[in-house]
Amino acid sequence: VTMTTFNFCAGPAMLPVEVMQQAQQEFINWQQQGCSVMEISHRSKPFIKLAAEAEQDLRDLLNIPANYKVLFMHGGGRGQFSAVPLNLLKPGQTADYIVSGAWSQSAVEEAQKYGAINTQDIRSKSAGGIRSITAPEQWQLTPGAAYVHCCPNETVDGVEFTGLPQTDSPIVADLSSTILSRPIDVSRYGVIYAGAQKNIGPSGLTLAIVRDDLLPAKDTAIPSVLDYRLAAENDSMFNTPPTFAWYLAGLVFKWLKRQGGVTEMATRNQSKASLLYDYIDKSDFYSNDVDKAYRSWMNVPFFLADERLNDTFLAQAEQHGLLALKGHRMVGGMRASIYNAMPLAGVQTLVSFMQEFERVHG
Ligand code: PMP
Repeated sequence: VTMTTFNFCAGPAMLPVEVMQQAQQEFINWQQQGCSVMEISHRSKPFIKLAAEAEQDLRDLLNIPANYKVLFMHGGGRGQFSAVPLNLLKPGQTADYIVSGAWSQSAVEEAQKYGAINTQDIRSKSAGGIRSITAPEQWQLTPGAAYVHCCPNETVDGVEFTGLPQTDSPIVADLSSTILSRPIDVSRYGVIYAGAQKNIGPSGLTLAIVRDDLLPAKDTAIPSVLDYRLAAENDSMFNTPPTFAWYLAGLVFKWLKRQGGVTEMATRNQSKASLLYDYIDKSDFYSNDVDKAYRSWMNVPFFLADERLNDTFLAQAEQHGLLALKGHRMVGGMRASIYNAMPLAGVQTLVSFMQEFERVHG
């Protein structure tokens, strides 16, 4: 018996079923090579072609201007927490970090190892317990900062903002949990980075999109695997790249193009998120405590009015094929991560289950 399951994990997250099926079909014998794509040299012609195609597809999807390098790196989001100050913060300079939740706070803690960091905590909580943030127009930024770092979608907190810092300094954005979920104007950023394991592919691959004037000077003392210049000059193959993850990311990019690209993703993601938030708001049994103006399309935390029912909720959800709904340990409650690969049917099934659970236990 096969049950349809929907995986709401925040990351590593579900990937499009079509992509997984294709990967399965070509797993042992990729493009008649007689072996798997993960068993061939990254310097072989077929792999270099795959790599270049994946980069071009990503460039098409995000409309990335020619003066930006697209780097396929190791080290995940946290690797970039180090890479950003190491590449961009010169001795004597300061950088601004906007703190909107758990991940931007972690980025601060890493950056402080390398230089002077000004932080600005934009989080607030109303008397009614609603969590919010102050709008970008009100952020106090340091004139001449080497860069301004922000995390437009906070995976743990379920907070998302689309406005950008108003600054002449380069904007560095951790888009790990929102990249490719809606159109963005890449030209407004200095650096965009994202761990792959949410909207791109499997973990182990990290994307960095870097405006070329921000590459560090030659021979700056940066660990080589985190050095943007080395990565750019070697087509992300200074060391062996995560080849299988790169391949899968390439399949995801092609899948995204077939779906209609990021504009279509935005439409779908908004409908999925509205369906879930609308139901939560209508119900007295469930709640979400994020200001409506800043609710994430990707990560939806919610709570049961009676928290003693949490374990029962999770166990029954799993029996219904609804996986990984347990909230992050810092927030508690539940969290449904609904990235690009989550079909509308997954959210509809979740809402039906929640209704039924409310009917029985409410
Ligand atoms: N930034 C954000 C926004 C994230 O969601 C995560 C992972 N959940 C990270 C950074 C850290 O990524 P990694 O585990 O790949 O280091």
